Amino acid sequence: MAAPLITISEARKLVLSTARPLGTERVPIEDAHGRVLAADLKAAGDVPPFACSAMDGYAIIDGEADRTLAVVGESRAGTPSAEPLTEGKAIRISTGGAIPEGATAVIPQENVEVRDGAILTRFAVTEGEHVRHAGEDMRAGETVLPAGTTLGGAELGAAVSAGAAELTVYRRPRVQVLSTGDELRAPGEPLGPGEIHNSNAPMLDALATAAGAATATPQRLPDDRAATEAGLAGALETNDVVIVTGGVSVGPHDHVKPALAELGVEEVFWRVALQPGKPTWFGRRGDTLVFGLPGNPVSAVVTFSLFVRPALAALQGRSEERLLESEAVLGTAVRRNPDREQAVRVRLERLDGALVATPNGPQGSHIVTSLLGADALAFVPAGEGELEAGTAVALAPLPH
Ligand code: AMP
Ligand code: MG
Repeated sequence: MAAPLITISEARKLVLSTARPLGTERVPIEDAHGRVLAADLKAAGDVPPFACSAMDGYAIIDGEADRTLAVVGESRAGTPSAEPLTEGKAIRISTGGAIPEGATAVIPQENVEVRDGAILTRFAVTEGEHVRHAGEDMRAGETVLPAGTTLGGAELGAAVSAGAAELTVYRRPRVQVLSTGDELRAPGEPLGPGEIHNSNAPMLDALATAAGAATATPQRLPDDRAATEAGLAGALETNDVVIVTGGVSVGPHDHVKPALAELGVEEVFWRVALQPGKPTWFGRRGDTLVFGLPGNPVSAVVTFSLFVRPALAALQGRSEERLLESEAVLGTAVRRNPDREQAVRVRLERLDGALVATPNGPQGSHIVTSLLGADALAFVPAGEGELEAGTAVALAPLPH
């Protein structure tokens, strides 16, 4: 008798307890977008590094309105005034220009009248007005980005402000997608009888890349035991993660499991109480992770989202993603599967304040179009009958 199916969350726990962060590397800021910081980043100096003006105007000494001050110099962004400021004087200043020694405030240019090399202050000015202080944004030595931060545009900007030119990040996982199936043809190739186009390979390669992987060119393997073993052997040598689709069920032409066993890849689990995605296989050889995903394209994407993507995140040091991102209510009734939890591709919309999840068309595991425009996966627990419209369901992200 086959072993009982494990639940989605048991399977995810097994994946996450197996996937350990890879090593680290130093990369220039220009190459760091999307990477995960592996060490705290501290500010090398104060930011801003010097007190500067928040406005275009005049650096002055604070005081009352209606003073006439002689303009004696200029502090431009990048070119501070050579002169200090003294009582009765003003120094023209641009936004970002250094506050001259002796000045205590800036009066914006729209608050003065300019007359023959002097200004008339039309308003009273208090100490520190329109002055940005040194270290107001970051203090020297302060941790600006903690290890584990995913580096988006704002994080890269903050890192540069903090003085960094290179960052210590986790290495990208090397990933290769292998597709098994005699019936598979390359994109655009004419189809003979019984043949289909290999849609899994470009789809999974793109999703792996979007999840931060460095992917090797996908390969197709025929439904032949020796060729399957040879293809897997090669992929295992050079990758951190091997994703193989199809051939993990129990048909006479499913060679993936015996080939992996022969290659010393140890099974962690096979078969999950999930629809679509029941035949999902996961194993390891040393630090190399192997995912055997079902051949049906929708099953492949769903199982990639639930199991492979969190593994790729963990390898890059990203903190564990939660399975239940949020909740929604079902927009229409969904027939339940008696034995397996369903991951339904749904569209999400806000209706009267509630987040409503509506199945995105027919849900067959071969219906690739059910992925188009889908916002998330909604989980329908195993059971009898239907889960009624209006029932709360958990959601998981569906990456594109
Ligand atoms: P298998 O898991 O190998 O039994 O395949 C299950 C179904 O998925 C079959 O209908 C296959 O033709 C289809 N399939 C397998 N691999 C791919 C692929 N790479 N692209 C599109 N369909 C596939
Ligand atoms: Mg097959």
